[in-house]
Amino acid sequence: MLQALDNHGKVVTLYSLNKERLAKLKVEGHFYCPVCKEKLLIRAGEKVIAHFAHHRKSSCPHGGEGAYHEQGKLDLYKWFSDQGFRVKLEHYLAEIKQRPDLLVEIGSKTLAIEFQCASIPMSDVQRRTAKYRENGFVPIWILGANKLNRLTSQMIKISSTDASYIHQFHEYFPLSIYYYCSLQKQFIFFQDFYFFTQTKAYGSLSVMALDRATLKDFFTMRKLPSDQLLQTWREELKKWRNRPVPFHQKNETAWRQWLYLHQLNVQTLPYFVNLPIQTEFMAKSPPWVWQSRLYLDLILKQKKFSFTDAHDILRNHFYPASDFPLIHSSFHPVREYFQMLERIGILKCYKQNIYVVIRTTV
Ligand SMILES: [Zn+2]
Repeated sequence: MLQALDNHGKVVTLYSLNKERLAKLKVEGHFYCPVCKEKLLIRAGEKVIAHFAHHRKSSCPHGGEGAYHEQGKLDLYKWFSDQGFRVKLEHYLAEIKQRPDLLVEIGSKTLAIEFQCASIPMSDVQRRTAKYRENGFVPIWILGANKLNRLTSQMIKISSTDASYIHQFHEYFPLSIYYYCSLQKQFIFFQDFYFFTQTKAYGSLSVMALDRATLKDFFTMRKLPSDQLLQTWREELKKWRNRPVPFHQKNETAWRQWLYLHQLNVQTLPYFVNLPIQTEFMAKSPPWVWQSRLYLDLILKQKKFSFTDAHDILRNHFYPASDFPLIHSSFHPVREYFQMLERIGILKCYKQNIYVVIRTTV
């Protein structure tokens, strides 16, 4: 953490102190955690930002996440302050018993900024986000770029636990996930992405130096050009169709056997049975698994069906929307998929929840 209490209960910060002063404090100073009141150590060095740390055995929830995190927190603190916003560092919100890394006042709104570098349980992210929102704060989670797993220039891996950090500020806002690197001093904005697998997402990725970015960049809508998506998806589809499946991948093997029982295989499945989906992170199985269920059990078998029929077939295939409190829209993978099928002329929605099959091949 960047702040601690001294013997008199006064808040002390270290990052602005010179070497001599720091060396003196390291020996003579007594500092305490504002949460657990334990005695703290000072960590500082040539490449390490001066900060407070608990003793190794501490189990304090305000434990801190190391120098990378502390540096990022301070960078962001200065970045917001330089833009003229009122910022509070590590401020304790007694009413909700939470301590966001930063609180930023913007007009009548207050942003609760969390710079998250360590992995924490999804349920913690959900609970903390929900509490911020219930109490009128706008939560923004910025992930440490140490958690960024970049596959190509426009493709990253978003693990199922990191999916709870996906933001969507309003219904028409593209899905967005934010990263900051406190070593390279840059933001990475990843937006408007589609999942080719449960974790592999393709979207608009932009890197921006901290000193060139402003808060507006968090709310800018960077769209992925549709021709780029189409081209990449075709390449991915080809790879997927030709990839060997090792037998230890039990679920995938079982799914392929299920296809064989229906006289089908991955090569003969129509291409629309593996469409990239934006809300795939809400699904518990890969896109081709649940989409093929809909294809075989509904599209091939029935001339007409309802959204509820689809929902019944895929019971337990999706996480509840409440698992993603940063997402505003009420979008659902099946609804998104049906809309795509409408666009390519497979289905037609003729009442709000009733779909008619137009054709089954392309
Ligand atoms: Zn503590």
